[in-house]
Amino acid sequence: MNPRRKSKPIQIGRVTVGGDAPIVVQSMTKTDTRDVRSTIDQIRELEECGCELVRLAVPDMEAAEAISPIKKGVSIPIIADIHFDYRLALMALVAGADGLRLNPGNISQPEKVTKIVKAAKERSVPIRIGVNAGSLPKAKNPKMTIAEQMVEAALEQIRLLESLDFDLIKVSLKAFDVPTTIEAYQNIAQKIPYPLHVGITEAGTPRTGIIRSTVGISTLLWLGIGDTIRVSLTAHPREEVIAGYEILKSLNLRQHGPILVSCPACGRAEVDIVKLAQAVEEKLLKITKPLKVAVMGCVVNGPGEAKDADIGIACGKGRAVLFKKGKKIGVVDEKDFVVALMREIETMTSK
Ligand code: SF4
Repeated sequence: MNPRRKSKPIQIGRVTVGGDAPIVVQSMTKTDTRDVRSTIDQIRELEECGCELVRLAVPDMEAAEAISPIKKGVSIPIIADIHFDYRLALMALVAGADGLRLNPGNISQPEKVTKIVKAAKERSVPIRIGVNAGSLPKAKNPKMTIAEQMVEAALEQIRLLESLDFDLIKVSLKAFDVPTTIEAYQNIAQKIPYPLHVGITEAGTPRTGIIRSTVGISTLLWLGIGDTIRVSLTAHPREEVIAGYEILKSLNLRQHGPILVSCPACGRAEVDIVKLAQAVEEKLLKITKPLKVAVMGCVVNGPGEAKDADIGIACGKGRAVLFKKGKKIGVVDEKDFVVALMREIETMTSK
């Protein structure tokens, strides 16, 4: 893996993005921002599964004003997602947004951007220049590739912000097409010192979207590119946060909660290993300490295959062996599989 690209850290509320800070996992609410109660509830669900930054859509003034009461009910920093109308950004700042996302494809007039930048600077609020392949400004040179146009759109707005002596900048260049996205990020990574928010836009439902996002985000992280990630999914945003951490855990870039090792099952398994692994996975969502947990379909190979797991269960017909670091510690009946395993896990993680 390439060493992480050096970037200039910025502060979004209490969360640092860039520099040596851990790669931040973020998501976006799917509630109507004007519905303060539902939005607070969804952000709290995201906080529970480890989300570190959350973005809210700000389609009108009422949504911008709602940021103020929403902030009072949650503890993670809030980023206002602004399109088309610069006045929404000004109101979001007044309402206490910790960060702004602007799209150069729909707010590009220098005088309007200048007003936003001045107000953000007064409050030390960072701005993400969020370029999206689907809403690019008109290309100056039609021969440019989409990736080049994305980079150009970002650089133009970066230059404007820099000319206003503003450097609390974060940048994203998202497309649905993974190679285009990778090309755009690789290109801009060498040109600017600012932290990069990486993701694949409109990636799809969990089945396909997690794969598409993982291919794009992991390739970039492997190249050392990326300071914060968002997995975009057509699903509850909790799934985005879980997928984000799984990507970081898979690359050993962050530890967050348990890692579940489960065998694929084969003709040797005598229990419904898919159902068991799903039940354990659901229970593990509440555990925040790092721990490797194994769910194996048979006692023949189970403990051996998962010997580096901290704790595991290897099932036989109607009974299972519990093992720690590959060593047997007890036998349980099928009806107690999940309860017994979770009891051990809770003891190990409560220390
Ligand atoms: S652990 Fe046992 S049941 Fe699971 S895949 Fe391996 S041999 Fe098959």
